[in-house]
Amino acid sequence: MKIDTRLAERLKKIHPSSTLAITSKAKKLKSEGKDIVNFAAGEPDFDTPDFIKEAAIAAITSGFTKYTPTTGTPELKKLICQKFKKDNSLEYAPDQIIVSNGAKHSIYNALMVLLNRSDEALIPLPYWVSYPEMAGLCEASARFIKTTAANNFKISAKDLQKHITTKTKVLILNSPSNPAGSVYSRQELEEIAKICVDKNIFVISDEIYEKITFDGLKHNSIASFNKDIYNLTITVNGLSKSHSMTGWRIGYLGAPSDIANAISNLQDHSTSNPNSIAQKAAVAALSAPEDFTHELCREFAKRRDYLAARLKGIKNLNFSLPQGAFYMFCDISKTGLDSLTFSRRLLEEEYVSLIPGISFGMDDHIRISFATSVEELQKGMDRIEKWITKL
Ligand code: PMP
Ligand code: GLU
Repeated sequence: MKIDTRLAERLKKIHPSSTLAITSKAKKLKSEGKDIVNFAAGEPDFDTPDFIKEAAIAAITSGFTKYTPTTGTPELKKLICQKFKKDNSLEYAPDQIIVSNGAKHSIYNALMVLLNRSDEALIPLPYWVSYPEMAGLCEASARFIKTTAANNFKISAKDLQKHITTKTKVLILNSPSNPAGSVYSRQELEEIAKICVDKNIFVISDEIYEKITFDGLKHNSIASFNKDIYNLTITVNGLSKSHSMTGWRIGYLGAPSDIANAISNLQDHSTSNPNSIAQKAAVAALSAPEDFTHELCREFAKRRDYLAARLKGIKNLNFSLPQGAFYMFCDISKTGLDSLTFSRRLLEEEYVSLIPGISFGMDDHIRISFATSVEELQKGMDRIEKWITKL
């Protein structure tokens, strides 16, 4: 067999996830004793709360270790329905909820059931690294809508309108966003919703950073505005960020019944249910008051402010203050380096690891994660400050 026919065509254009690769490289170097400052992390540095771990241990000891229904246990799905209602003014029945192996899996499932080969997914740029790759795995194409710092890296309804073609099937929205920390206002989302309804475009609303917003900003769920946009939206969320549970792999979505049914069939034949023990842990997480999540958010706000104060003092780095999530997206164009060179040299010369903007479609930016302690932020910023003046 010829080398180039061994793999399916759909895999040939897929790249590894640079965010995952760089994060694990930084962790490995650290475990080998290198004094690495890790600004690459895409996960909260907090431990999963004990009461959640205890629920998982109880699940194991009581023998809750078998298959569950593919789309999640009735107990968990009921809590997810209640969460959607309470936090997002969204009415989903349990059979409209699919629990999967992380929000990443939920988004992939949603794209898989919506996109045909020649369809286009509209993706605001900068984008989370996996969106275009997932569209590629569906043999569809990604069409990017460029944004700028002047509009906090958000698309407007006008931008959206300009990019719609006869092939457009889906818009992927992410608020609060990774990597720019943008949070869409209710009015901005309403204008976007109107166009999607007019043009019959589905929305995948990735709300995984919902709970991490700053300065009193409130998250809005686009599907909650009216029945028309509800019928076109798949609302994605999960516990990775809000409960510091990235490794447990629990994400979920709420969708119109026909889409939820299709995803249930897909999951039946691909992964079956998400881990039974992690589902019990998720039940504990969603049943408890949100003290942990509020504390996490307050801590991230403090770190954001510290990082912003430090960055203000560095001449060749520009940034916009993130409104949510835990990343600072910085413009490095004044350094004259592209983002890969910048991040490679910073790692090799100063042992600071971060994500090059090219991973998110912007080669003149870098992403600094502040999911790390203020002491680490201080150490890393001292190194960056010194290094930049030498460039
Ligand atoms: N969406 C965005 C924007 C993310 O940053 C992440 C984090 N990896 C995810 C989805 C997926 O989260 P998970 O699969 O861990 O639930
Ligand atoms: N979302 C995180 C990040 O952007 C985790 C890595 C990933 O899932 O790609 O760094």
